[in-house]
Amino acid sequence: MSGHLETIVSLHKTLIELTAANQRLNSIPEWMSELHEEHSEKKAGIEEVEAAAATADQERREAEAELADAQETQKRYQEQLGQVSTQREYGALLKEIDTTKSQISASEQKALEAAERKEESDAKSAEMREAFSDLDGRYNAELAKWESEKPAVAAAAKQLETSADELRAAVPRNTLVLFDRLYEHCGGEALSRVMKMEVARGNAMWHCAACSYNVRPQILVEIRNEGSVNQCDSCKRILFWEDEE
Ligand SMILES: [Zn+2]
Repeated sequence: MSGHLETIVSLHKTLIELTAANQRLNSIPEWMSELHEEHSEKKAGIEEVEAAAATADQERREAEAELADAQETQKRYQEQLGQVSTQREYGALLKEIDTTKSQISASEQKALEAAERKEESDAKSAEMREAFSDLDGRYNAELAKWESEKPAVAAAAKQLETSADELRAAVPRNTLVLFDRLYEHCGGEALSRVMKMEVARGNAMWHCAACSYNVRPQILVEIRNEGSVNQCDSCKRILFWEDEE
């Protein structure tokens, strides 16, 4: 596996740039992140109040259904009053009617309170929406600006993809398999730079920048002179050398 290190290094760089371009495409850009946060927060606040209004409305409907049921029962009891024959039955029925009456009054109260809560929430959300409209307008303008910038970023990503494909085609299959496996395993950090460390005057040692494990001088020679693909003995990343400026 020699002579392809330079291509592997270029491929690695291209993939990092491609990942960054794709991330840019799929996220809110830095310059509008503050506005995005404010917008999301205010919007969530409005949605919360609107959800409370919907809940109150649901509770009102339930209370009204309970009320209708109780009124129906009440009507039935009233009709039965004329049919009872004993004082005891009459008394028992009057007691039922009383109970139903309190149910009716409780349901009416519940329905009324829920309707009031709905009205309050509606008023609050309308007020919030009005205050939100300016922010929303600014946000949509920035969003439109970002949308207009996206095609250029997408084109750059496409170009990087093409470059990556070309570079991949120039690398032997076994090297490519090794690189891909490391790339996946190390979360994109498939390569590691060889670092030089002066140990004494005129003497140096070399080690892997990722894991600090020693790199034998012979390996360094192969990397620098032949561009061969060598892995760190410890972390297994592909080693490369970068000349200091
Ligand atoms: Zn290492």
